[in-house]
Amino acid sequence: MIQDIAPKKINNHYDPAKRPAADSYILSYSGGNVLSMLEEAAPDTDTRTEQPLQLVLPTLADLKATWQEIGEADEEKAAAFEDSLIYLFSIDEDMYFLAEPDLFSEVDYPKAEGMALDAAQAACEASAAVGIGGWAYLNPRFMRQYLKEPKDQVFAVLTGVQLARWYHNNRYCGRCGAKTHLDTKERMIRCPACGNMIFPKVQPAVIIAVTNGDKLLLTKYADRPHKAFALVAGFVEIGETLEECVQREVMEEVGMRVSNIRYYKSQPWGIDDDLLAGFFCDVDGDDTIHLDHQELKEGAWMTREDVPGEPDDYSLTNEMMMLFKAGKEPR
Ligand SMILES: [Zn+2]
Repeated sequence: MIQDIAPKKINNHYDPAKRPAADSYILSYSGGNVLSMLEEAAPDTDTRTEQPLQLVLPTLADLKATWQEIGEADEEKAAAFEDSLIYLFSIDEDMYFLAEPDLFSEVDYPKAEGMALDAAQAACEASAAVGIGGWAYLNPRFMRQYLKEPKDQVFAVLTGVQLARWYHNNRYCGRCGAKTHLDTKERMIRCPACGNMIFPKVQPAVIIAVTNGDKLLLTKYADRPHKAFALVAGFVEIGETLEECVQREVMEEVGMRVSNIRYYKSQPWGIDDDLLAGFFCDVDGDDTIHLDHQELKEGAWMTREDVPGEPDDYSLTNEMMMLFKAGKEPR
């Protein structure tokens, strides 16, 4: 899954005293895209895809070098930029910092439209052509689709995007409208006018594998870019337990009762601010599928051998489907 980066480990203890080093990675997002570059991966890299590409994130030194190249190496500006960087987390010895894109607005990094590989490559080429090192804003969902390595950096990008969104969306107080500032001790945003304390929020959601002996219930969403078969899923409502959410979502989406609800694993999914909790359960009684056509366009019971696999191994959904296919789901 996306968080499985062992033997590397993420350390997200907040430490505002940490300041960037030359080799610290800089995460900068614009409209959900992240400043990065594509590089051809070494031929022996186990990419498991047809695109042997590698994601490269800029370090502080990389960005400063490109600014020098285009004559934007004003030392005062560079120092102000460095000061403004927000420490996010570390993966082993690598530190990751957040930069707001408007802090280096005089550098016009190209932006890839959409998720297509050729759009990403074109953006990187346009960047190289104007001397800013090939750095461009690329869609992180695209990374999930095409890039496998380095896996810790892909995880960093897809986790950092949630923090970036949280910082960006809370620059003003939602209660009184005053300008907020960052707390100096913990990962919190404080309103100096009314005292409002804003903490990062994680939205819990469930992924549900409904089983019926040797069959698994698979669905397709009606209006999502993700066209493959998936499991029943949904957000936890306020005042609801995870188990109640499992029962409600299955009833709403496919009109069935379930029992023997058992927890499997969880997965952070920063792209959508989620924490996903995976459950297996058994259909209880009538197994006729009554589809909620507003949300789903297809639903089917599939035998173990017919359960399709995904090209990547990033999602909890896929891991649960593969577990069932192999007959290894928790009973
Ligand atoms: Zn306020």
